[in-house]
Amino acid sequence: MKERIPIVEKILSANDHIAAQNQSTLDSAGILGLNFMASPGAGKTSLIEHTIKKLKGRLKLAVVDGDVATSIDADRAAAAGAQSVQINTGGECHLDAIMLQGALSELTLEKIDLLIVENVGNLICPASFQLGTHKSVLIASVPEGDDKPYKYPGMYRGVEALVINKIDLLPYVEFDMEYFRQGVEILNPGLVTFPLSCRTGEGLDVYLTWVEAEMEAHRRVVQ
Ligand code: MG
Ligand code: ZN
Repeated sequence: MKERIPIVEKILSANDHIAAQNQSTLDSAGILGLNFMASPGAGKTSLIEHTIKKLKGRLKLAVVDGDVATSIDADRAAAAGAQSVQINTGGECHLDAIMLQGALSELTLEKIDLLIVENVGNLICPASFQLGTHKSVLIASVPEGDDKPYKYPGMYRGVEALVINKIDLLPYVEFDMEYFRQGVEILNPGLVTFPLSCRTGEGLDVYLTWVEAEMEAHRRVVQ
């Protein structure tokens, strides 16, 4: 029992070391990396498809998809017009920096401006593993319920932007937006938040403007 904590710390610091390498790989190629996290079914892949379709004239996009099995999501990203790599974690419930390092070696980095990493659908451990991306985006969705910030504080605390997807369902499900936002505000004050619907398109423009502004800001830093 005595050795358990040091071993966990060692694994995390090895991961953080590779995450730092990943970030310098991205920086030297001028790539902005975003880590998309969410529970299964929140709409990560749908949001990624919209992002690719709306920005592909202006930005070169790539997607790294993490799933326990299948290449369904990477195939969807490729069909939408992005370079894509599927990571099958084989049961692992999160991506780690070594997995992303392997995926980066399969991409043509010179042909990427924006890299979106779609993490495994899970609101717990993806928050604990740095990947080397620059910003983390949490995609919440209305049908999940308004109590999720209270139940998964680690995830809500550790992100730089929050999407609230499926707002078109607000009239049909119990979701108290005020209660939800209060929970978020306690954990992550002032968090930039985008209520939207991938199905109707409502609110997507504000989110896309943010993505492009982040890209611009990143370019100014790394050049
Ligand atoms: Mg997906
Ligand atoms: Zn995990």
